[in-house]
Amino acid sequence: MSHRHWCDYSGHYWDCSGTAVRLFQNEATVCMCIKHGVSMDNGDHNACPIELLSCPEHRADQLRAMGYEPDHVFEQQDQDTRTKRDAQGNPIVGFCAWCERDFYSLEDHFEHWGDPIKCPVYNEYIEKHPSPRDSEESAGDADLLEHEEEG
Ligand SMILES: [Zn+2]
Ligand SMILES: [Zn+2]
Ligand SMILES: [Zn+2]
Ligand SMILES: [Zn+2]
Repeated sequence: MSHRHWCDYSGHYWDCSGTAVRLFQNEATVCMCIKHGVSMDNGDHNACPIELLSCPEHRADQLRAMGYEPDHVFEQQDQDTRTKRDAQGNPIVGFCAWCERDFYSLEDHFEHWGDPIKCPVYNEYIEKHPSPRDSEESAGDADLLEHEEEG
């Protein structure tokens, strides 16, 4: 039975077949219900919190935006620090990949990534890297982006 995730990079729901590659992991792992602590395939979790996870199409984009190559091999250590718990051991649905703020519900995420976006790290990044569409001066960057889209 499939379940949904919220792609926090692009802001849309997507259907997951039961396993997914998490942002700081190299291989797909079974999706666990953060409320019940069992596999999402085990029982009905329609009413449970939705895990925030960039979808397969956007995972590479999110990693690139954070300065990683999409094929970066993460150390076991990285993965251990990314278990879905906050420092007090409370389960979280996800965290902000930019400022590492913990989200306890999708509402927390909407609040953080609402309008205006409150993430301080993201806002700082955008200030330093204005998108080519907003700034005609960065024509060189726009060229690069166009080449990427062709490939
Ligand atoms: Zn899943
Ligand atoms: Zn559940
Ligand atoms: Zn997506
Ligand atoms: Zn943030």
